[in-house]
Formats: sequence, C-alpha cells, structure tokens
Amino acid sequence: MIESLRHIVQEVSAAASLDEALTVIVRRVKETMAVDACSIYLNDVRNGHYVLMATDGLNASAVGNLRLGLTEGLVGLVAERQEPVNIENASAHPRYHYFPESGEEQYHDFLGVPIIHYRKVLGVLVVQHGQPRLFDNAEVAFFVTAAAQLAGAIDHAAASGDIRRILSSQRASPCCIQGIQGAAGVAIGTALVRYPLARLESIPDRQPEDYRKEVVAFKMAIGHVQKELRACRSRIASRLPREARALFDVYIMLLGSNRLIADTIKRIRAGNWAPGALRQTVAEHVRAFDQVEDAYLRARGEDIRALGGRILAQLQPEGKTPRDYPERCILVDDEVSIAQIAEVPGQRLAGIVSMRGSRLSHTAILARALGIPAVMGLGDLPVGGLDGADIIVDGYQGRVYINPAPAVREEFEHLLREDAAISVELEELRDLPAETLDGVRISLYVNTGLLSDLMPAKQCGAEGVGLYRTEFAFLVRESFPGEDEQYLTYRQVLESFAPKPVTMRTLDVGGDKALPYLPVEEENPVMGWRGIRVTLDHPEIFLTQLRAMLRANAGLGNLHLLLPMVSRLEELEDAKRLIDRAYAELVEEGKPAQRPKIGVMIEVPSAVYQAARLAERADFLCIGTNDLTQYLLAVDRNNARVANLYDSLHPAVIQAIGDAIAGARRFGKPISVCGEMAGNPAAVVLLLGLGIDKLSMTASNLPRIKWLIRNFSRRRAHDLLEKTLLMDDTRAVHHMINTVLRDLGLGRLVRTESDDYPRG
Ligand code: PEP
Ligand code: MG
Repeated sequence: MIESLRHIVQEVSAAASLDEALTVIVRRVKETMAVDACSIYLNDVRNGHYVLMATDGLNASAVGNLRLGLTEGLVGLVAERQEPVNIENASAHPRYHYFPESGEEQYHDFLGVPIIHYRKVLGVLVVQHGQPRLFDNAEVAFFVTAAAQLAGAIDHAAASGDIRRILSSQRASPCCIQGIQGAAGVAIGTALVRYPLARLESIPDRQPEDYRKEVVAFKMAIGHVQKELRACRSRIASRLPREARALFDVYIMLLGSNRLIADTIKRIRAGNWAPGALRQTVAEHVRAFDQVEDAYLRARGEDIRALGGRILAQLQPEGKTPRDYPERCILVDDEVSIAQIAEVPGQRLAGIVSMRGSRLSHTAILARALGIPAVMGLGDLPVGGLDGADIIVDGYQGRVYINPAPAVREEFEHLLREDAAISVELEELRDLPAETLDGVRISLYVNTGLLSDLMPAKQCGAEGVGLYRTEFAFLVRESFPGEDEQYLTYRQVLESFAPKPVTMRTLDVGGDKALPYLPVEEENPVMGWRGIRVTLDHPEIFLTQLRAMLRANAGLGNLHLLLPMVSRLEELEDAKRLIDRAYAELVEEGKPAQRPKIGVMIEVPSAVYQAARLAERADFLCIGTNDLTQYLLAVDRNNARVANLYDSLHPAVIQAIGDAIAGARRFGKPISVCGEMAGNPAAVVLLLGLGIDKLSMTASNLPRIKWLIRNFSRRRAHDLLEKTLLMDDTRAVHHMINTVLRDLGLGRLVRTESDDYPRG
C-alpha cells in the first residue's frame, strides 16, 4: 500500500500541470483502493467556493462547474472539521446536499478527508462506493495518509503550473509567487538561472539560434561520453566484479539507444536547445522507469539520470562567461550560494531569488550587506523555466513577479523612486550622531565580510566595523588562503577603518556555511561541527588565521578579535592560549605584531547562562541574535518551512538578551548586538529599552536605524519593552511596535507592513 502511494506521489510530482496532477490522483487512487468514485474538490479562495476539480466516477461535465459554498454539503463539513467524515448512507446525513449535475445518486457511502498543507485546507478528497458500506479504519488511515502526502504535491503542482502558465502566455502577468523576505528593496531585471554544470534538473528551455548546430553538438557529446565510458571500462575492468562491468555495458547500450537520441533530436527540431531537449527526454524516460514495480528496473531510471548528467557536462564545458550576465541581473537558483553572488561582475547584480533558504541564511545576510533585494524560500519551483524572464524582486514583501504587467511594473518603478528619495534624505544624517531624544548616545557599527562591501561600509557613517565575517573570503575560494594572503586582506580592512575599531571574527564555518574544500557529512550540521569547534580541532588553520590577524594589527591597534559559537568556558581559554602562542611565535620570528582585544559571541543558550563568567575572562561580548534565536526557539534559521516560527521578538529571546547584558555589566565589559536584529527597527526599539548602546548592522540598514534612534527616546523604548514582556502573543508585539513607529511618522521604516504597498 505504502509502495503504491509512493508511486502515486511520484507521478503527481512529475505532472506538468495542476489539472494533470489531479487527474492522476483520482484515477490512481480509484484503481489502487478499488473504490467506485474518487473526486477532488479544491478551495477557490478568491470566490469562496470548493470546486470539483477532478473526478473518476462522477459526471466529467461537472468538473470545474460544480461549486459548493465553504460550509455547504458534506465537503464543507470535512473542510470545517478538518478531519475525515465517514458515512455509510450519505443521503440521509443532515448536511448532505444533492447536486443533480454530479451524477452522485449512484453512490451511497461517502468518505471525505481534508487535504491540508501547512495548516491551510487546500481541498477535500472524496471516495465513494456503489454499495452502502462504511470504510474500515485501515482504509480511512490510508486516505488520510494519501491526502497528507498529496497536499505538498498539489501545492507544488499549483505553484509550478502558475509559473508555466505565466511563462507560456504571451501576455504580461499581474500575479506573483510568495516566498520569504531575504533582503529589503525592489529590483527589476532579467533572470539568470545560474545552474551548476551538469545539473540536469535545473536546465532551462531555450530557443536555439541554429538547431542544426545543436544537433551536431548533441551527437558529439554522445560520442564523447561513449568513448569516455569505454575507456573507463577497460581501465578498471580487472578491478570490478562482473555485475559492475555489466553496468558499463548497459550505459553504453543506453547511449546508443535510438529513443534517447531520436527523442532528443526531435525536441531540438521542435525548438529547444540541446541541453533543454536532453532534460525533457531524460525526465520522460526516468518517469517511465519510476512507475515500474520491479525495484531493479526502477533503479535503471537513476542510470539514465546519471547518463544525462554526463552528456550535459559535455554540452556545456565552459559554463557562463561574464558577457552572458544581463545588465540588471536577477540571480535565480535552487540555492543561490555566496560563491555565485561573488561571481557576478560589478554593478550587474540587481536581485536574488533563491528557492531554498530563509531570511537568516548567509546568502540573505550577504545580500543585505551588499544592498541587493532578495527573496528566499519559494519552494520546489521549476527554476529552469525562469531563465531570461522579466522579473521583479520585491524584497519588502518576499514576492517575485514573473513577466509583470505594465501596471505592476509602474508601481514598482514608483516605489524605487521613493526609495531613492528616502536614501537621499537619510544621507543628510550621515555625520550626525545617533542620539535619542532624551540624549542617550548609541554607537552604530557596520557588518561586512567581503572586500566588495567595504565601500558602502565606509560611507554609511559607522563608527567602525562591529562584525567582519572572515569566512566569506574562505567560502568563495577553492582552497584555504595562506597566511600572507589573509594578512593582506585583513591589513586592507584594518587600514581602511583605522583608527576606528574593527571587530574581526575568526573563521565561522559549518551550518549553512560549508567550505567546498573541507566537506563534512553531518546529519544535523547546525548542531554539529561549527565555528570555534572547527578551528580548535584544526590549530593549523586557526593559527594561520590568528598570525595573519595579529600581523595586520601591527602599528594600527584597531583589531578586536571575536570568537564565534562559544558554548563552554574552556573554548575561550583554549582560544586565548592559541592567540598567545601565535603572538609569541611572531615575536620570536621578529615579525611585527600587536595583541588585540578578545571578545566572545553570545549566540548559544549556554553562553547566555554563562555570560558573566565569559565577560570576566574576555574584553567584550557581542550578541549574535541570528543563531541565538535559532537555538533558543529550536527553529533552523535556513528552513523555509518553519520560517514563520523564527522570531527574534519572541519574549524568550528578549529575556535572554537582557540576561546577557546583565552578565556583561557585572564585570563592566562592553556588550553589543551584531545579529540582524540590530538592523530591524522594531527590534531596535526593544534593544534600546534593554539598555544596549552599541549596535552593528549591514550598511544599508544603518541610516534608517540612525533616523529611528534620533526620533525616539530611551524612556519610551523602555516603557514599550515592559509592555511587550507582559504580552502573550508575539504577533501582538509586532503589531504594537509597528503601530507606534507609524504613529510617530516612521512608517516608511516598516514598509513591509505598510498599507500603501503595491499588491500586484
Ligand atoms: C549571529 O549569529 O547573529 C551572527 C551575527 O553570526 P552569523 O549570522 O554569521 O552566524
Ligand atoms: Mg552566528
């Protein structure tokens, strides 16, 4: 049974449209469970109806026409109760409503189960028999399981269908796809799908310039792969068991198979370039294999996929060249990486759309540092089709508009002009202090990480760098940088801000910042080998970095060294010993070096509880609210599925920040906030109330935070904080603070929730 369900879900996921997906469901469920009718009703949110969308058993002519009110009939009852309704004699039920056009009179019983996706009732799955009989418990359990598994596939099919419809229609579209806010701002540009080499699933469809050339290239690629496989087989034949050798033969045979070649060439002739045509052919073959019961034959689908990858690698050996980047490039991928962002030349990067990831992913953090609007977490959408499309990235609302209608475009152009005007206005505050209305001076620092964002960091009027993420430079390379190379980078950063302080964090990799040249397989990387755990386990890497930093500090003295992910006191002690050692070595070698101040990040709950003891042993503390929120609320910061639960305004987070501040104060040590909270106006109100006087944020946020501070008093912030700590509902906290900001005339700072916003 589970096996049949797996097949149905696979078939549904591969369907080209929502209609096809629903047709597959009703047909296959009816077959598998030997019922006489299976139907699906979906919620038409706009018109407040449940609509019969597919049926195998009721009158086909009722599809799309049979509509029920949201609380009407047995379907309405299932949706209302959000649980199965199992009735032996449906027509005798008080909620039964007969629709003559349905042809339902031939059935007696009724089992309806809700189709729910992330708390949202998408629709109702109904099965019926000709003879009156109650479905037994096992059957009900099967349908509940089926509906739960199909909900995701239906949601996906609906969203993918939207994209395909928008792309295939010649008309501009007013609708948009909802994701998660990554970085604020609006970008209008052309999508570039930055698919990595040889990843077939992400290859877009594209019109070939000359289909004959595509056919030749495809045939040559096939020839290369055949040769490659033959050479490989003879090279390692003696070391392989017979079955494994046979696999090579199967591959070579599949490559010669007329269907694979002929089908692809047919698709090229029909107007697709070779990689796109190959993707379609492979997908069709894989789908056919996936539906076979026999496990051995099913695995052959994998072989075809692997072969497709090899052919593709031959078709696109050089990847994209810089001239392929559109003028206003919107980088689109399943998971946009920091390296991909760094690759886009100069001024061309206008926006980012990443199907995976969340607001706190480092891709989003880097986007904010660069002032590039970004939308994250759109789910499993077919990115390939988006290549070359006109795109609006709405980083305020977390929405993406594909081939937008002129009216939508105009609204966003208006918004862009308004944003530019606000920036000019804020520019005037650049050299004024961040001082509250009641005279409290707050120090504003900037977060940076790449040399390319040093300029905005220097120009935003910050008092120094509050967080320099050294790992960004490590992530965009193919091997560890050496000491001299690191020295040059750090020296440049320290010099460009001197005498202002620069807080450099030692290498913080792991979690969503995996080094390509230090691959680690972990079940749960966020709880695994991260930050200081990695560097203490690899003193050779750590010492190289420390030596480079201490040398860079020579004669400048503005380096503050920050240790990430400290979760126990020994880690601080061990790190301090290694810093001493690096310094002693340099002195011994006669190289100029200078000791820095040493700080600890408070970003895991244990560090909050030990804040005072850490403060006693360190020169300063810095609260990393991104990770602290993740670990306190047990919500993965990169997981779009739980993004709505990730909330730095949660009272537990506020309380923890208060405790960390108290710990630092006990030993008279400075403490700052350098997580994304520091750039969020509503959060800054609460941080002010907590008594924080140093904030570090991305350059693009700094001017508006300064504006906020200059228009607010600490006393008022403190009153608001007291109120929020008594509130039960975090939504109410957001609402209250945003209302206060708006009433003060600071509504433009909270644009994401303002009413004067284009809805598309
Ligand atoms: C944090 O966790 O808040 C932080 C500043 O570090 P990162 O976002 O780089 O993990
Ligand atoms: Mg962190």
